[in-house]
Formats: sequence, C-alpha cells, structure tokens
Amino acid sequence: MDDIFLRPYQQKFIEDVRNEFRHNHKRIVGVAPCGAGKTIITGWMIRESARKGKRSIFFVHRHELIKQTSETFDRLGIEHGIISAGFNEQLDLPVQIASVQTLARRLKKVSAPDFLICDECHHILANTYKKILNAYPDAYLLGVTATPQRMGGITLCDVFTSMVNGPTIDELIKLGNLTDFSYYSAKTKIDLKNVKVKFGEYVNSDLQKVMEDKRIIGSIVDNYKKLAKGKSAICYCVNVKHSKKVADAFLNAGISAAHVDGETPKAERESLVEGFRQGKIKVLCNAELFSEGFDVPHCQAVILARPTKSLTLFVQQALRPLRPDPDDPNKMAVIIDHVQNYLRHGLPNKVHDWSLDPNKPKTHLPAPEKECPECGRVVPLGTYVCPDCGYKFVTEEDKEARLIEHLGELLKVKKRISNTNNLQSIIHAPVSPEDFMEIAKKKDYQVGWVAIQSLKFATSYEDCLHIAQVCGYKKGWAWHKWEELKGKFSVDRRYI
Ligand SMILES: [Zn+2]
Repeated sequence: MDDIFLRPYQQKFIEDVRNEFRHNHKRIVGVAPCGAGKTIITGWMIRESARKGKRSIFFVHRHELIKQTSETFDRLGIEHGIISAGFNEQLDLPVQIASVQTLARRLKKVSAPDFLICDECHHILANTYKKILNAYPDAYLLGVTATPQRMGGITLCDVFTSMVNGPTIDELIKLGNLTDFSYYSAKTKIDLKNVKVKFGEYVNSDLQKVMEDKRIIGSIVDNYKKLAKGKSAICYCVNVKHSKKVADAFLNAGISAAHVDGETPKAERESLVEGFRQGKIKVLCNAELFSEGFDVPHCQAVILARPTKSLTLFVQQALRPLRPDPDDPNKMAVIIDHVQNYLRHGLPNKVHDWSLDPNKPKTHLPAPEKECPECGRVVPLGTYVCPDCGYKFVTEEDKEARLIEHLGELLKVKKRISNTNNLQSIIHAPVSPEDFMEIAKKKDYQVGWVAIQSLKFATSYEDCLHIAQVCGYKKGWAWHKWEELKGKFSVDRRYI
C-alpha cells in the first residue's frame, strides 16, 4: 500500500541486502535493532518478490510474532497464508508466515520458496531451523536480528556468509523511532561468586538465592520510588517465585503491582496487561515473558532484576521502554539496573563490532561508562558532572596521577616486604588491566602495552585470562603467558 513509506535507512538496508545477493551471497544476516521496523523492511522485500512471481516464507519462533507479522503484512497489502497450529492452511499463496516448529513438521507439504526470511535469527543454529534450511537449499536466506551472536560467543558463520548492518540505537533515537533513556545502576551490589554458569548462562536456582535477599528486593522498591515513581515499569525477575516476591514487595509498599507468567491464564494475562496499559497497574513483574516480541504498550521504565550473560536478552529487556509515546513527545525512558548487567554488556545503545569471522579477535573494551556514586546514573567515562544530581567526578588526570602514585607505592611496598609471607594483601592490589586500558586509551598506547603492564601483576592463570579478556586476546594467549610466568614464578621474582 502506498500509505506506508520507507525511511532512507530502511531503503539503504534493502539495497545493501540486494547487493550482497547480487554478489553471490545466498545467506545474509541483517543486523537491525528493535525500533528499526524489521517487519516493514522484510515485508517490503517479500512484496517486491511476490510481484515478480517469487515465493517467500517468513518464519518466526514465537506464536505472538505470527499475529504481529500478519497484521503488518495486511497493512502492506500482502496476501499471505499462515503455517501454524490453529490456522487454516492456504499453501497455494506465494507468501507464507510460518512458525518454526509447525513448518519443520510440514516441510513435505510446503513447496520450496525462492526467498526465506528468518526473524530473530540468533536462534538459527538450533536443530529445527537447520531442518528448514536443509529442506530448501536453493532459497535465498535473509536472517534478521538485533544481536547476531549466540550464547557462549558462537558466531553465525556456519549459516551466513555475509552481514548487512542496519541503523544503530542512537540513530534511531535521533530519528525519533526510539526515545532517549536514563540508565541507573543500583547501589546495592549483588555477589554472583556462588552462582554457577551452565551453557553460558547463570543457573536460575542459584540466582534466585542471591536475588531474593530482602535487602535487594527492598532496594528494587526504593529505587523505583526514587527514580521512576509513578511510571509504568516492567520488572524482569529471575523466575516465577522471585517475580511473585518482588510484586508482593511493591504491593506492601502501596504500589500497584502484579506478577504474570506463561502459566497465567490468557484472559487474566490480557486483563493484567490492559490494567498496565491504563496505568492501573504500575509495576508488572515477570520472568522473561516480555523479553522477545511480546508487545507491552505504554512501558516507561524497566527494572532489571535478573543478571544475564546473554547480550540478546539484556538488549531485549533494557530497550523495552524506548518505544515513543505520541501523547508524550518528551518521554525519557528509565532503565534501573539492579544486577550490573551494563558491566557485562555495555549500555544497551552500545555499538558492537559484529563479525561472521570466528577468528577475528574481539575488540571488546571494558565498559566505557561509570556510575555516579551519588545517584547511580550511568554516564560515559569522560563525564565530569552528573547530569542528574550535579555530582562532580574526579577528573581523568587526577585519577591517572593517583594510579601512578599508587603504582609507585606498590612497588616500594613490594620491595620492602619481599620474602615475607604477608604477601596476599598486595597480590590483589587494585591495579587491574581495566586501569591500564583506561590510560592506554587516553594516551593512545597499544593494547600490547596494557598486556605487558598488567602481566606484571598477574599471579594466577585467572589473572592472565582476565587480561586476555580485557585486551581482546584469546584464551590460548592467557594459557601461554601463564605457562611462561609460572615457571619463573617464585616469591623472589614476584616482588623485586
Ligand atoms: Zn548523580
């Protein structure tokens, strides 16, 4: 339909994808953050293909997304069938929207498409997806995702041969597709040292033990009152039990709140979401229900109460309140991070250096942000005055002078107490690769300098690993360095 027009970045995205197809890349991953209008972009491409008599299948892995996609396709005037439980098949239509699970079961019935589009394609290495790809080896494939990365850092290079980058979050904020946001980190820090990690993610039952601490739950309520009072907030919890506890804490503090999960009966869930939309329920607590594709309108704030190692999950949760509100052109979304997710992933608008090359070293630098010690607002490293409370940060020069002074002191102390047993206290001196990285960035030193300086303070394989991580080196480097170090590693050598 002609009432839908593409923005210039959407046109560019489509042009870039076409270009890659023309250059014999048959399987392309398109990186597009939420707010970029992924469904409009892909719908537009599918419509163009249909006009040329080509068949397309758009497949998604969640039921809720089928309805949303179908509505967008209707707006674009694309006649389509739906391959999913509960829908009548119309397999003769050239455009199909399919649920991954149903499509994988009906592959024999569905004629091969020319064009396959996979939404949320960071899941594409799962077996069900592979089945679909194997069934249609000749189809052109476009996968779209905001985070082309799998848990544990596995890249998508097994499937895709080329990558096209869409707009960044900041560009979308400037264009008004997303609202700006304030990001706060809670003062009550959590300790994850006893939380196990399985398959690249924290173990839920361990997380629950940490997060159901009364002080932490209390600070979730306090910070909401302090930073987002009266705003409609979604609170992401560890699991159902934790979510219920948090909702109760809000209710006890006189704030209208509710818990909702996948087991909540549909009618009740819809009425809770409607209550949230109308502002009758201020805080909606859940465990992952509203992360991916589940549309909750009128969200002004999010509370992150679930530590995650998944960048995908983090970004999906954190960006949830950035949808513009036509009634509030000055909307400023609020993100309250109770679990220091930003230290693991950077702020949600961070520009990532994605690559399909598994051998490309990660250029991931430590989070270039800092927290205001007064109000918790997370700001870029170079900020001198907190925009929220006016707190004056120590300048970078001051900090550097202090660090150098500290290094000098440390070396002196080391000489003085060498050959004594009282060494443990200075082994863990606060001279971290992050500190050196900060100096290096400012002075334009090479990463190698950071590694050399940091290694002087390494006393374990873990230390070497940490340095490798900060410098963007591989694990093998850490292992190699530790092999080198530990041989010569005597008290004498360490402390002279
Ligand atoms: Zn502040």
